[in-house]
This record gives sequence, structure tokens and C-alpha cells, in this order.
Amino acid sequence: MEKEVLKTQNLSKKYSSSFAVKDCSITIKQGQIYGLVGKNGAGKTTLMRLICGQSKQTSGNLYLFGDNSKKSLIESRTKIGCMIETPSFYPDLSAKKNLMIYSMKKGIPIDNRIDEILEFVGLSDVKEKTFSKFSLGMKERLGIAIALLGNPEFLVLDEPTNGLDPVGIAEIRKLILRLNEEKNITVLLSSHILKEMSMIATHYGFIDKGKIIKELSREELMEKCREALLIEVNNPQSACVILEQFCDCKNYQIISDRLIKCYDNVDHPEQINQELVENGISVYSLSSMGKDLEDYFIELLEEGEENA
Ligand code: ADP
Repeated sequence: MEKEVLKTQNLSKKYSSSFAVKDCSITIKQGQIYGLVGKNGAGKTTLMRLICGQSKQTSGNLYLFGDNSKKSLIESRTKIGCMIETPSFYPDLSAKKNLMIYSMKKGIPIDNRIDEILEFVGLSDVKEKTFSKFSLGMKERLGIAIALLGNPEFLVLDEPTNGLDPVGIAEIRKLILRLNEEKNITVLLSSHILKEMSMIATHYGFIDKGKIIKELSREELMEKCREALLIEVNNPQSACVILEQFCDCKNYQIISDRLIKCYDNVDHPEQINQELVENGISVYSLSSMGKDLEDYFIELLEEGEENA
């Protein structure tokens, strides 16, 4: 079984009167790319700060690499590389010099690793260029380079693609995948865009108003967003009885007073249509659809509202 890199149990952080993170319980195992997905203000950064030791929890437990004693957490955090908000750089110094300064600040010996890291993040050609001339994507990659200085086993990246153009986003994605696959680094990253996350994450934690509202694997997410039939009828309640009795459809949702989303038997819309019509239901339309990831995200948030 894969080792647990991170486990939180009812982790909470309260700022004056309100909770930024509340009763958060998540588990990240070695080798995973865990995507923390939530709207702005949901609590992603706060949770990452707690994990990286930049902020102290109000209550709850946090385990890193299986241990939660004060001493082991200090030790474990040396194995974490984090980029929470863009680090500050000296604008008139080169990328390499900036990296050397960060190395010194972290007490890491300056050796060949700096060149190696610059190579890995794709900045070796521009390592002597002054930081102020860097594009946003290059700055982001330099931020990741800093996080890599201590040779981490676990990388925590807060919105690493925020503000980048599609090419920049794809480059960062490729870099994170390489770090995961080639260096076996476990990754926790955040985004407010599920679609973007879905191209990289192996596991997901959805956070809203400081609470984890859902945790699921890539396979489970794909299953949730699987194909469905959208059936428009005069009487959805009666239609669903027929779907169950005659069409072997157990998974469906009534989504309005005319619409049903049915997840079973999607390859046989003609049979479903025939059964409904023969049993007295007027079928106005029937179409196939795959659920959009962002729709799923919005639905999750709405369910959270209803259960709040
Ligand atoms: P996200 O990263 O998902 O955008 P944050 O973790 O930054 O969300 O913020 C979660 C909530 O906590 C927000 O309502 C934010 O205003 C609040 N918050 C974050 N940091 C502080 C702080 N230092 N003091 C008070 N409130 C804070």
C-alpha cells in the first residue's frame, strides 16, 4: 500500500470570528497528484499554509509522512517544497542569482543542483537574464524551481497556473507531470478551475467555505461526468417509474419539471423512447450528453448549499 504523505483530521483555522478552514480531513498518498478545487476564498491557501507550517491550526490534527509529533513535523517539512503565492524576487538580478539567494536563505549548499533545477524547469537558456524581463510563465517556473531547492518529496503549489495563457498553463502542467513521474514527487496543487485540474490530478478534494465537500479519484470523477441521456417529457415522475420498471435504469435525476438525466442504458435511447411512449409518456426530445466538469463542480457547490 502507498505511504500516506499527508493526513489531516478535522483541521480547522479560525480568523477572529470566522473559519477559513473547518474540520478538514483529507489524505494524500505517495505518488498522487492531489487537486484542491474551490472558488476564490474557499480556503485553499489557508489549508496549504497549515500543511506547510506557515500558519498554525486552531484545532485538529495534521500528519506528515505518517507522524504528527512536533519534532517529526519540523523534520517532515524539510521534505516539502512549497509555492504559496509568488515568491518575491530581486528584479535586477538574474534567475540563477535569485535562486542562489533563496538557497542561502534556506541554508541549502549552493552546488550543481541549481543548474540542474534550472534545466529541469526549462529555464537554463535564460538563467542569466534579469528577473524583471521574465514572462509570467517563466516567473512561475522560477517559483517552482525555488520549491525544488531542498529536493522535496512532496510539493505544495498554490494556483501555479493562475493568470497564465494557455501555452504557459500547458508548460506548467507538463513540468508538474514530469516532477511526479520522473522524480516521484507527490503533489498537492490548487485551482479554481476544475477543467484545468482534470488534465493533471489523480485525486480531487473539493473545498467550499473552508469545508471539504467531496474527495474522489480521477476515475470516480470521470464516472460522475459520464455520458447521460437527457430526456424531455411531460411527466418526469411517471417517466422515472417506467425507466426503473421497463428500462432497467436505476441511476437518474429529475433536473426540472420536464427534464430527466438518465445514466443507464445510454446506448439504447430508442428502447427508452419506445417504452416511455408505449406507457403513455409524451417524449419531446431525447439527447446524449457528457457532463461538463464545471457543471459537476457547480452542482457539488449547490448540493453543499442545500445541505448546509
Ligand atoms: P482561497 O485560497 O481558496 O482563495 P483563502 O484560504 O485565501 O482562500 O481564504 C479563505 C478565507 O479566509 C477567506 O474568506 C479569506 O478572506 C480568509 N482569510 C485568509 N487569510 C486570512 C487572514 N490572514 N486573516 C483573516 N482572514 C483571512
